Amino acid sequence: MSAPYTSPLAEALAPGLLERFQRYVRVATQSRRDRERSPSTPGQRELGELLVGELREIGLADAALDEHGYVMATLPGDGPAIGWIAHLDTSPDAPGDGVEPIVHRDYDGGVLALPRGGTVLDPEQMPELRGAVGHDLVTASGDTLLGADDKAGIAAIMTAVAHLAAHPELPRPTLKVAFTPDEEIGEGATLFDIERFGARCAYTVDGSALGELQDETFSAAGAVVTIEGHDVHPGFATGRLVNAARLAAEVVAALPADLTPEATSGRDGFIHVYEVRATAARATIHAIVRDFDDERLQAHADVLRRTAETVVGREPRARVTVDVFPQYPNMRRFLEGHPEIVGRAEAAMRAEGIEPVRTPIRGGTDGSVLSQRGLPTPNLFTGGHEFHSVREWASVQEMAAAAATLVRLAGGWAGA
Ligand SMILES: [Zn+2]
Repeated sequence: MSAPYTSPLAEALAPGLLERFQRYVRVATQSRRDRERSPSTPGQRELGELLVGELREIGLADAALDEHGYVMATLPGDGPAIGWIAHLDTSPDAPGDGVEPIVHRDYDGGVLALPRGGTVLDPEQMPELRGAVGHDLVTASGDTLLGADDKAGIAAIMTAVAHLAAHPELPRPTLKVAFTPDEEIGEGATLFDIERFGARCAYTVDGSALGELQDETFSAAGAVVTIEGHDVHPGFATGRLVNAARLAAEVVAALPADLTPEATSGRDGFIHVYEVRATAARATIHAIVRDFDDERLQAHADVLRRTAETVVGREPRARVTVDVFPQYPNMRRFLEGHPEIVGRAEAAMRAEGIEPVRTPIRGGTDGSVLSQRGLPTPNLFTGGHEFHSVREWASVQEMAAAAATLVRLAGGWAGA
């Protein structure tokens, strides 16, 4: 049995990391889309309090949970203040309470059947499993997500900070740690106090496969098309009824079929209609628009606007309004001027024996908004896979590699 660790450091960090990870995933921290306060659910605050206690025990005396559910703490060092960020919440898109993690030692490359829900992890369907033969895998029990997104990131940061605190001889800059609520509902960065955090740049630890290093996200906009018809009792409707529901259906059908998430990949953007609410009197079409390029994003939004105005414009008695609003920007433009931020992450991975994988994210991270607000923040891998599903799994070896990469990243920034 030779578990394939990326380094002796990663191997040494693994047992403590696994213990932390199993503790964190058991706290129910799913966020809720209809949030009335921050955090949207009490479990996130519970995990925040647990982490504050552990950070203080490690020696980060200023660790605290703020009124909005953000954990922040400092490990003093030599050099600029550098941030490490992970999110407390898990996705509302799959059941997430009552997580019971299972460790599958020395994965043999076959099908993993989980005890509940008939859930099966099959390398035929999930090719990333093939890269994890010989690893120790963690899954949930089949009827919940695991929550490696992003508790693998939290465990990696906690493990790296604990290691550095226990080894004062190791070089490190001043390290700022933050754990954020409600990332999965797009609110992780909104109440983040960048000034109090006081870092020059940061890294979210919220990626997936070994070596992922992401400094590019979608640019994102939301859109709402509202159609006002004219409702009349159908018995008296001849020549008078203007049916907003039918017009909404025509608008959706007229949108380009090759400009959807299901028909695009790589660097191509899309228009995604995710909700239509309609009565004869009034209809709303909710869509998101995405692209890596801001001009193309604008062009997609224009397609949506023109389509709605053209289709509804054929019925002069109907009215249409199209509201397009920005959501988050591609972080690349905020990182381009600071090549050392990504450069030091690449160097840390290489020192850990990992070849960096630079993939653009077909989505956003807390770092998209933080970068825009003045805290440049690329994203690093965690070793978690199949996020937001009951088939979610994580590799102990890859999570340990993430923690070891952070230790090396600290070394790279020391005295900078
Ligand atoms: Zn995440």
